[in-house]
Amino acid sequence: MQKAIPTVEIINNALPQTQCQKCGFEGCKPYAQAILNGEPLNQCPPGGDRVIKVLAEIMGQETKPLNRSHGIFETRKIAVIREEECIGCTKCLPACPVDAILGSAKRMHVVITAECSGCDLCIDPCPVDCIEMKPIGQQTELKDFSITEGGINQNLSAQWATRHDNKNVRTARSLQSFSPQKLEQLKHNSNFSRERARVEIQEAIIRVRKRKELLKSRTLRKPDES
Ligand code: SF4
Ligand code: SF4
Ligand code: SF4
Repeated sequence: MQKAIPTVEIINNALPQTQCQKCGFEGCKPYAQAILNGEPLNQCPPGGDRVIKVLAEIMGQETKPLNRSHGIFETRKIAVIREEECIGCTKCLPACPVDAILGSAKRMHVVITAECSGCDLCIDPCPVDCIEMKPIGQQTELKDFSITEGGINQNLSAQWATRHDNKNVRTARSLQSFSPQKLEQLKHNSNFSRERARVEIQEAIIRVRKRKELLKSRTLRKPDES
């Protein structure tokens, strides 16, 4: 049987779709396009050796080890927000490529575990470091990323890809709907909002620190102390 000519779609379908950007591109589809244009196929840590093997078959190339400068293959993790420390700054929301975080300004945020791709892109923007990545176990990792004849098990990966595409479409639509004047105004406003958010975040950090110190002093206090 004649081998299918590689396309962006075929390559993209073989990628894990965590949208983590560890390959050096803005998501799985841009990396798929780059592979088609000659980029090395060993730059996806979440896919590891199994994905490299599938990509090598698609591209008719020799398989090669994962390029560790992009990261290492690990058991899948999910983000968990320590809710009592969250200051509701919303900075993690735009960072999430698959819309797995719920929350609104000044309210506690939560990660929808079932929808988190484990990309860890929400970690850096959090000003109070209250998000941590936790492994979810080998069994789930194997189920989610098991290789089938056509590539990766589509269940979770397909959901992440759809959610990522939807987010991109929404962002593009909202930008298109604004006039140049409105965009300029938004830019100005967002500078203002950023400044205000910065002050609010600083104040919240001080509150969180005070709360932590208070909790610590209560824990250290002996039972007979009042
Ligand atoms: S899973 Fe991450 S590293 Fe792999 S292709 Fe997608 S964005 Fe790139
Ligand atoms: S919650 Fe964090 S780790 Fe999970 S998908 Fe969103 S940005 Fe990635
Ligand atoms: S970035 Fe951190 S503090 Fe801000 S809303 Fe997200 S989890 Fe909460």
